[in-house]
Amino acid sequence: MDNKLQICRNVYVKNLFGVPSGSKKRLGRASHFFTLTPLKNHSKYTFLIILFFIILNPNSLFAMSLDETLNSLSSVSSIQSVQFRWDPLFRDGVFNIGDNYGTFSVAAKEGETGFLIFNNRELFNVTLPYNDNGRLVFPESFVATLRTTFTRLSENDSSRFRIAAIVIDPGHGGRDPGAVGSLPINGRNTQINEKDIVLRVATALRDQLIRTYPDKRILMTRDSDRYLTLDQRSDMANSVTVRDNESVIFISIHANAARNTSARGYEVWHITSGGRPRQLLDSSMSSHSPDIQAILNRMLNEEFTSESILLANSILQGFEGVFGNTLPSRGPKANDWFVVKNSHMPAVLVELGFLTNRQDAQIMTSEEGLQRLTRSLYNGITDFIGIFEKK
Ligand SMILES: [Zn+2]
Repeated sequence: MDNKLQICRNVYVKNLFGVPSGSKKRLGRASHFFTLTPLKNHSKYTFLIILFFIILNPNSLFAMSLDETLNSLSSVSSIQSVQFRWDPLFRDGVFNIGDNYGTFSVAAKEGETGFLIFNNRELFNVTLPYNDNGRLVFPESFVATLRTTFTRLSENDSSRFRIAAIVIDPGHGGRDPGAVGSLPINGRNTQINEKDIVLRVATALRDQLIRTYPDKRILMTRDSDRYLTLDQRSDMANSVTVRDNESVIFISIHANAARNTSARGYEVWHITSGGRPRQLLDSSMSSHSPDIQAILNRMLNEEFTSESILLANSILQGFEGVFGNTLPSRGPKANDWFVVKNSHMPAVLVELGFLTNRQDAQIMTSEEGLQRLTRSLYNGITDFIGIFEKK
């Protein structure tokens, strides 16, 4: 409610009914000026004008100033303070309480509706705040939505942004050997298959992650030498059920081959933002209309892409930490990998090295080399989880 209006009404009510005699005595002579002077004519007119204004604009009774809105939200969390920013040029506003945020557009005039979006994933159709000569006016219903949603999100905070499951996908398998190289072992030229190396690294990685995260599900798309289609791999990853505040990460492990035998080093692929299918949300699970679905899908698209890039960079740093400059980094790469594209979660594809390169093949076939490759992936994944869950 408008402060000025509130004060005027109080003055009017006090003067109309008078102040109880007991309090007059207690207030003493100085207060007589305020309590006993009859309402002046201009005050009467002011009140009538305000009354007229209220009748014309019933909404203004149910609107709040920025200060009142911030006050109303301050009860949401006793630990976190409420923050507000807005950009008058783009007419965007954002409220923050801890890690949770609600964004909206400022309406040009009173009564316009639009979206109030929480944490880029929860969307409400509301009457928007509007700009009244540089002063923001917040509809009471808008503030109520802010308050109830922030309260619920803050209550979930302890379990929010959690990685609930890690899906490790050793590439190829069975009749598909993947890349093939050869290396003289004990004087004999021995064929080395990508499918075998990636299975060994994936299994060791799984065992280490299980020890570190007894509360997370650590899964493999295959744990033996068997053939899986790409659809089967991504379907398996997408069928992992998680709660709203949880996520799954997907790591596909491969080894490279090249005609040029001097090509060597590791690389990590992540998805491009345009590469994902549009329909990420299950429409049967949601009451949102199709246009809102499209917006939510786009937001999830962008979120998965940025998480995938973060995961890719963490894994690259993991390799760098273990191998230094003894194994070259070929950097993060973006592409529409099928197996990654169809996983509705942060997902990367790691190429451990080149089976066609002598030095890389030695790393990938020695016990110590395999341990170091596993350690690189482990360090990258645990670093990512540390950042992601703290965010
Ligand atoms: Zn491969």
